[in-house]
Amino acid sequence: MSDQIDAPDNSDNVLAFTKRFDKNSDIKEMRNLVEAPPPEHKHHRCQHANVLVDEHYRQLTCRRCGAVVDAFDWILARTKGESKIDWELRALRQEITDHRQGLEKLKREEVNCRARIKTAQFRLADVNADIDKANKEMSFLTERLEQVRKLRGAR
Ligand SMILES: [Zn+2]
Repeated sequence: MSDQIDAPDNSDNVLAFTKRFDKNSDIKEMRNLVEAPPPEHKHHRCQHANVLVDEHYRQLTCRRCGAVVDAFDWILARTKGESKIDWELRALRQEITDHRQGLEKLKREEVNCRARIKTAQFRLADVNADIDKANKEMSFLTERLEQVRKLRGAR
């Protein structure tokens, strides 16, 4: 003999007790369509990047958040992602082309600068040679002048 058998069935009392707190609880029972509560471990802003493809149920399920994913929406999102990468790749290639052209221009400028430096070095050598020549002439003339002064002083 157990207490549970002897215990009176008071489920009607429990129902009445619940209804006392939610007087609209009967409305849900009258509805045809009721929204399921969101899952407790719901991932916010999940991109559903990893999916399980179920051939039997013909269904995609997110492996991260467990949501059933609409196949067309999923493919469309991936396609848009690829379109974005497409544009980024084009922009990067254009950037590489621009940088290469800039580099070629700099290389040409470097060659020009080297040629100008070489020309300037030749001119400097010529000027130095002229200065050297002028110095020699001046020392020769100074020497001659000194000799003339000595000859004049000797008289
Ligand atoms: Zn997900």
